[in-house]
Amino acid sequence: MNTMRMVDLITAKRDGKEMHKAQIDWLIQGCTSGDIPDYQVSAWLMAVYFSGMSSQEVFWLTEAMASSGEQIDLSGIPGIKVDKHSTGGVGDKTTLIVGPIVAACGAPVAKMSGRGLGHTGGTIDKLEAIPGLQTALSKDAFLRTVREVGFSVVGQSENLAAADKVLYALRDVTGTVESLPLIASSIMSKKIAAGADAILLDVKTGRGAFMDSLDGSLRLGKTMVDIGEALGRKTVALVTDMDEPLGYAIGNTLEVIEALEIMEGRGPVDLQQVCIELAANMLLLAEKAEDLGHCRAMAEAAIRDGSAKSCFFQMVEAQGGDCRFLQDPGKFPLSPITLPVYADRSGFVQAVDALAIGHASVILGAGRMTKDAPIDYSAGLLLKKKIGDRVSAGEVLAELHTDTENRFTEARQEVLTAFPIEEKRPSPPKLIRARISQEACNIFD
Ligand code: URA
Repeated sequence: MNTMRMVDLITAKRDGKEMHKAQIDWLIQGCTSGDIPDYQVSAWLMAVYFSGMSSQEVFWLTEAMASSGEQIDLSGIPGIKVDKHSTGGVGDKTTLIVGPIVAACGAPVAKMSGRGLGHTGGTIDKLEAIPGLQTALSKDAFLRTVREVGFSVVGQSENLAAADKVLYALRDVTGTVESLPLIASSIMSKKIAAGADAILLDVKTGRGAFMDSLDGSLRLGKTMVDIGEALGRKTVALVTDMDEPLGYAIGNTLEVIEALEIMEGRGPVDLQQVCIELAANMLLLAEKAEDLGHCRAMAEAAIRDGSAKSCFFQMVEAQGGDCRFLQDPGKFPLSPITLPVYADRSGFVQAVDALAIGHASVILGAGRMTKDAPIDYSAGLLLKKKIGDRVSAGEVLAELHTDTENRFTEARQEVLTAFPIEEKRPSPPKLIRARISQEACNIFD
């Protein structure tokens, strides 16, 4: 072991050779401890970017990363614990809805989530839009909330998969983020360390997603399912559409209000459909029913009978949030300035480019331009039209919300480019594109 030299691992990977387990373990230990300098780790990352990794290497890498820091023990909580992970999207508030549905059906959900990244939103930022709600709970308080309420969401522990922090920070500044084995190991190492028995992955595909091609999303989903299963966790991936944002609301407070609507049996149909499918797959993983049809019916019933909403309120209360804002969403502070964006021609909406809408929401203040920048919880957009809708010149396409007037011009331009309008009605987007399990990959196109 002490005869290993990083330069040999870099050249081997550069030349497309497969690494051994001992080499990967040594590399991850050296990254975590800081013994291997950043410039050598960066060179290795670039070699992986170009040469790729075998499934065996990705498995060893994920295993080493998962055990490089803290690991959460959920064994004290009875039942099959199911986690969910989204690869990131625009208007994706599904965790706020799906977690309570699944918990209300009897499967505990202990969720560690992140903040917004680039043009994509993050669950922690959305939850923190609820006055008083704490997402930095102690481990004991987190586990107690899961035991008592069935559902808790906290920010990811600093030390979870410690090697990923080092690798991700270097990838971010060395042009090596977009590598399938590095993305898969980064996501799965954190999921494995977070301790759930089963994992549902929501791999987004399309303009607003990490992977914009269906083929890339399928390969990422399959790689992550294989890793999860090899590490003893039942794992399923759904590939879901992120060409257009999910629902109508983008921005933290606006998304909490829309999530409440879904839990009340109202709200946008696309968001409703994706939430039911995610929840049903989690319930199947938790062995709450024999097949997906029964699991869907359970999820729908949890919305109809109010038990999902009640679970959400209990979680918010347990984490210090003020439920009066949920009981009367009119109490949420909203932006002082709103501005409609009008269509400049008549026809049918061909696309609502999720990437451009995500950028517009960041410009308006709903996301961060730099890592530690503050965000404006009330900022964002409310879409008024979606793909396939008929629109007349002068009709409102979207409403922009911000507290800073000079942000409008740039955001408005982004929104206008996001809405191509043509005479022909396009076919509606397919929301659930594929389901990948160890047994099968079903593509629904
Ligand atoms: N999310 C992660 O956690 N890691 C990646 O590499 C990409 C997305």
